[in-house]
Amino acid sequence: MVHGKHAALANGNSIMKYSIIAALLVCLTLVGCAGQSDSGAVVATEPPTQQAFDWKLITTWPKNLPAIGTAPERLAVLVDEMSNGRLKIKVYGAGELAGATEVFDAVSLGTAEMGHGAAYYWVGKVPAAVAFTTLPFGMTAQEMNAWLHFGGGLELWRELYEPFNLIPMAAGNSGVQMAGWFNKEINSLDDLKGLKMRIPGIGAEVMRRAGAAAVYLPGGEIFTSLQTGVIDATEWVGPLNDRTLGLHEVAKYYYYPGWHEPSATIELIVNKEAYDSLPLDLQRIVEVAARAINQDMLDEFMAQNFIALKALLESNDVELRRLPDDVIDKLRELTEEVLAEVAAESPEAQRVFESYKSFQEEVQAWSEISEYAYYKARYESNE
Ligand code: CA
Repeated sequence: MVHGKHAALANGNSIMKYSIIAALLVCLTLVGCAGQSDSGAVVATEPPTQQAFDWKLITTWPKNLPAIGTAPERLAVLVDEMSNGRLKIKVYGAGELAGATEVFDAVSLGTAEMGHGAAYYWVGKVPAAVAFTTLPFGMTAQEMNAWLHFGGGLELWRELYEPFNLIPMAAGNSGVQMAGWFNKEINSLDDLKGLKMRIPGIGAEVMRRAGAAAVYLPGGEIFTSLQTGVIDATEWVGPLNDRTLGLHEVAKYYYYPGWHEPSATIELIVNKEAYDSLPLDLQRIVEVAARAINQDMLDEFMAQNFIALKALLESNDVELRRLPDDVIDKLRELTEEVLAEVAAESPEAQRVFESYKSFQEEVQAWSEISEYAYYKARYESNE
């Protein structure tokens, strides 16, 4: 018994010795190690990056709109958890702290540190910005992400926003959108004449040239405008978001494909001084969280759009229609005309469109024999 007790004590002593050696080794590997506390635990001094930040994120979306509005909420949670609470972000829906159309200026001025919206809302200030959301008949989400992150797009975007004190990041994508909701059938180009339609970006100017009266309205104003006849058609996003706004209650025909938005990149804009005030690890956390929600949003739309579409068609008086080929052909032709004119008036737009279009031409050659050929193979036999 005694022998055993001594052995246990000896064993305990050697465990203590190893613990001290291990503690010293840990201490050596830590910069600014302050030694041992009374309990024997190693205490490291706080590195200089422990400052905490409280940020505001304003959005152009109604609060918690599925996918497009929940993405910034997810970003806030991710950043909070990855930073161990050092960067707290409070998300505000459109109109809570700033109106939907005020997001760019408010973040530029530092009223809020971050904004979540879409670059094509700011074409009045920056015509070239439209390409960082989408161009009609342009790139799909996969192609767009490739251009932004591996084809020079993001660098051009950052240059474009630099004079506004803003750092942009891709932070969501809708995938292919729907052409929109119409209160009358579109059987020919004539049916577009005089049509009052809510549509943003280059698509708006294309619709004007096709004879429609295109207007821009934020998401929160679409339902009432359609209900009261201020507009007779609108595009918004796709089944998931359109159903949330209740557009099926105020329009009958649901048209595809989304020629005007083959994908839409959603942007996160960060005030430059605020971003520069962050230590490097928090800057990286913000960037990685933006990349995460950029992909997450696309995944969520893909997982939810077909469910929402099914529900729309099953329980409502909604008719799904494809735009006639001659209408699509004309819209494609008008798009080329509008893009050339915007580029002619803005050297910045010219530079950005050139990069976008040349990347699209190159990537399409691959998309044609990969994605496109596969989709065809899935449904049709080869001739
Ligand atoms: Ca849209």
